[in-house]
Amino acid sequence: MSEAFAVRGQVVTPNSILIDGAVVVKDDRLAWIGESSAAQGAGFGAEVAAADSPTDGRYIIPGLVDVHCHGGGGQSFPDAATADDAMVAVWEHRLHGTTSIVTSLVTQSPEALRRQAQMLADLADAGEIAGIHFEGPFVAEAHKGAQDPHYIQAPNPALMRELMIVTRGHTVTMTLAPEGKRAFGSGSVAEVLIENGALPSYGHTDCDSATMRAAARWTREKLGLTPEETRLSPRYTITHLFNGMEPFHHRKPGPVLEAIADAAGGGAVLELIGDGTHVHPDAVRSVYELVGRDSMVLVTDAMAAAGMDDGDYVLGGQAVIVMDGKAYLRGEDGTPGSLAGGTAHLLDVVRNSWKNSGMSLVDAVYCGSMQGAKILGKEAEIGSLEAGKRADLVVADENLYPLQVFRRGIQIASVPEA
Ligand SMILES: [Zn+2]
Repeated sequence: MSEAFAVRGQVVTPNSILIDGAVVVKDDRLAWIGESSAAQGAGFGAEVAAADSPTDGRYIIPGLVDVHCHGGGGQSFPDAATADDAMVAVWEHRLHGTTSIVTSLVTQSPEALRRQAQMLADLADAGEIAGIHFEGPFVAEAHKGAQDPHYIQAPNPALMRELMIVTRGHTVTMTLAPEGKRAFGSGSVAEVLIENGALPSYGHTDCDSATMRAAARWTREKLGLTPEETRLSPRYTITHLFNGMEPFHHRKPGPVLEAIADAAGGGAVLELIGDGTHVHPDAVRSVYELVGRDSMVLVTDAMAAAGMDDGDYVLGGQAVIVMDGKAYLRGEDGTPGSLAGGTAHLLDVVRNSWKNSGMSLVDAVYCGSMQGAKILGKEAEIGSLEAGKRADLVVADENLYPLQVFRRGIQIASVPEA
């Protein structure tokens, strides 16, 4: 048992900001959250009195939860040769406030998927990562983005079953295109996912509106019929809404409007890469105003270049060039092609959504922490500053650049300069 201690600042809770707030940490738990003036009465007067009382407008927010992240710090989960390499990327994001990370693979050969998934499942067993996201291989070539077309294949429930065994319950989501035969419905990949405690995440799709609607309806029903104890979350997800799918057109509506309508009705949770590059800030604002914070989740889709300089990188074996902080597939003649993942940390995405997309700070933080926790089925354990939860928190300056990060009650090594 260690001594309890407090940190003070503007505390961002799920529904408000405590201007002169305090968070008391005891061991790996949040012991108390409240106005500093109320600490004495709550029995934590000594801890809060011992903490610095900041005057710089700093915020205390929950540790962030990223449910779509391929890498950072020069390493990526699809390409990492060892668990230590993968941990370089985990640490890159952890030092910037992401205390729970779902590691994303990309479309690769079945052998590569098995190998990388096995390594990541070991890291999940060790408590270093929160789970695994497969992005592909059952996606649409027409909207492949940075997915390697060489390894794209039709939905294969047998391969899915095998990957579920390899990942031993650590699979969180798989991105798949709903138009593929056996993508959803009886005997489908989506059925294997749900029956094994994971979630389909529709995306990288060439589907029309009717297919998206049918997939949404089936998936909602299936999740509704699945017993709570075997289900990760009652809601499935849409992989980076707008990216990797046909844009909306009123005579050829495609999947976007269907996905938004389903989310507004309590079906899908919409991933948004709110980094200012993948989606216009006004599109994030409109989706937020349409569906509200409980039906969207902010993600990074970050790749190896997160936290690094411009230059050459690799994503799932494919060459990527990063220019002005934007990652593109490198064409054969060296010219930039499709966007190939993000380079932001989730805290950057939260800041950007707050400052440029009209989200309140409370809601932007909520979409970067609580919403990911709910997808993981861990909202009772992580995702907000509430007593009893795991002591994962970020102290950030008035512009939301990280100053200190605590994970499981322990301050992790020095935070790099913003
Ligand atoms: Zn991705």
